[in-house]
Amino acid sequence: MKTIANLGTIYSWMNPHLEVRSAEDRGHGVFAKHPIKKQERLAIFGGDIMLIDELKTIPIEFQMYALQIEERFVMGMRRPTQSESTDYFNHSCNPNAGIRGQIFLVAMRDIAQDEEITFDYAMVISESENSDLVFSMDCMCGTDQCRKTITENDWKSANLQKKYTGYFSQYLQEKIDGV
Ligand SMILES: [Zn+2]
Repeated sequence: MKTIANLGTIYSWMNPHLEVRSAEDRGHGVFAKHPIKKQERLAIFGGDIMLIDELKTIPIEFQMYALQIEERFVMGMRRPTQSESTDYFNHSCNPNAGIRGQIFLVAMRDIAQDEEITFDYAMVISESENSDLVFSMDCMCGTDQCRKTITENDWKSANLQKKYTGYFSQYLQEKIDGV
């Protein structure tokens, strides 16, 4: 696996014990250079706050990097700039990281050196209010828990709500809790 040099961060922060590497059949991913402890902070995401429909006005390759932070809002890059190392966390249906608050990524368990860091997009994505954008993605994470298709309704699954208690984006956790 090859380290991708000089990516760095502009708007975000990434734990210095992590790095972007080529992930063979999955493009690039973020990997642990050193062992990581459960609950350790892995990344803080940053960027431009946009209404979800504004996503349609930016190039497709940057739409993929946007992080949903509420029913109507995403955080991403309004202008195409250099991509950041924090753009390369991949989805997995059996992840080792989860969301804390809306913009923090933390380790859900101890992570060994050279493991890829992944989170489940179900932790952040939901149907967008007043928007015709629909999220759906084929998954090839290859884990025995793979759902094959990842949708904006996955957070409603009782199984996932149990599995990811404390690791959903805060706005989704509040919807789950009926706050
Ligand atoms: Zn999967």
